[in-house]
Amino acid sequence: MTDIHDLLGPYQSDLTDAEIETLAVRAGQYRTQEHEHSEAIFPSSSYVFKSAAEAQATFRGELEGNVYSRYTNPTVRTFEERLAAMEGGEAGAATASGMAAILSVVLAHLKAGDHVICSQSVFGSTINLFEKYLRKFGIDIDYADPVNTADWKAKSRAETRLFFLESPSNPVMEVADLEAIAAVAKDVGALFAVDNCFCTPAIQRPLDFGADLVIHSATKFIDGQGRCLGGAVVGSKELIEPVVGVLRTAGPTMSPFNAWVFTKGLETLSIRMKAHTENCAVVAEWLSQHPKVARVNFCGLASHPQKALIDKQQRLAGGVLSFEVEGGKDAAWQVIDSTRMISITANLGDTKTTITHPATTTHGRITEEERLAAGISQGLIRVAVGLENPQDVIKDLARGLDAL
Ligand SMILES: *Cc1c(COP(=O)(O)O)cnc(C)c1O
Repeated sequence: MTDIHDLLGPYQSDLTDAEIETLAVRAGQYRTQEHEHSEAIFPSSSYVFKSAAEAQATFRGELEGNVYSRYTNPTVRTFEERLAAMEGGEAGAATASGMAAILSVVLAHLKAGDHVICSQSVFGSTINLFEKYLRKFGIDIDYADPVNTADWKAKSRAETRLFFLESPSNPVMEVADLEAIAAVAKDVGALFAVDNCFCTPAIQRPLDFGADLVIHSATKFIDGQGRCLGGAVVGSKELIEPVVGVLRTAGPTMSPFNAWVFTKGLETLSIRMKAHTENCAVVAEWLSQHPKVARVNFCGLASHPQKALIDKQQRLAGGVLSFEVEGGKDAAWQVIDSTRMISITANLGDTKTTITHPATTTHGRITEEERLAAGISQGLIRVAVGLENPQDVIKDLARGLDAL
């Protein structure tokens, strides 16, 4: 390990024997001649050279150095190094949003004629990206059940190049067997990408279970306070290099300011994920005792049908739950509309608790049949529990539930 007292310039990236909480506050640090303790921010679009010859050498890549912030930026680089270290990956690439991360992976690693297998329960915009835009460029997509590994195998073809999933799934918290699906992907010769936005590396590290790429919307728990949009891809150098190529050419890169916010967000990620999980568990236990609640989906409940798999893959249950009330949409809307504090929004991963009705928001564009196949009834409500006192969240939910 580098002696931190000697650190000047780039980049504290050899903390390979350190634990994740240490990596979160130390990895990737860049220190300037000012000897600042907290990470500096470099909001500069371009960089200067001492001479024409130095400019030429830097442009050619013979000299290490920054050229232009669509290519490299020290603040962005610190975030990439830190997140990659926490995910246990060799390299990372930061993007303008989570969707830009998914798009960059697709542009870097797929071509016309390729076939993608995507979990049937992923973020709505991911399905839109695949259906509206990938198909336009001659890429075919099939959807598989994340809890049924055999389904992934059955839908594979010679042209299958990418497996894509989220685990646990949104909003019903079904867990995919990452190791088993990674084995199928390897067999088929497909890359296996996991959108790790719900867990973050503080809870789950998909690369440890054989995934090739981890994708993030940093907008959610990595920021953790609902301020900035951003995303990232982590994996081996070999797989990240083409992604960086797309970013440099097409330009959906992360702004230095956002990278700085996310870098500081990573420092408190582990303790925040613990607090989100603890609060979520208190709310989930209360909901499961409530006579008007038919079902609670939360990875921390002893009754979760995939408890053993959760214990294997996740350090914690996470901060999101969903529950079902009898009485369909009207009852669900009544519970949502009776809240006075909880934010009615489809966003998650914020200090503020959020509540949403998946059937008419995040999953409003798919058919009722597809919704039911994914376990999303009209009575289902999703809550991403924040950092308020959970008793106040319970009080806010009780108002509507008690009146049903
Ligand atoms: C929000 C989200 C995205 C998209 O991220 P943006 O930063 O909004 O572009 C992708 N996947 C999941 C699971 C998300 O929750």
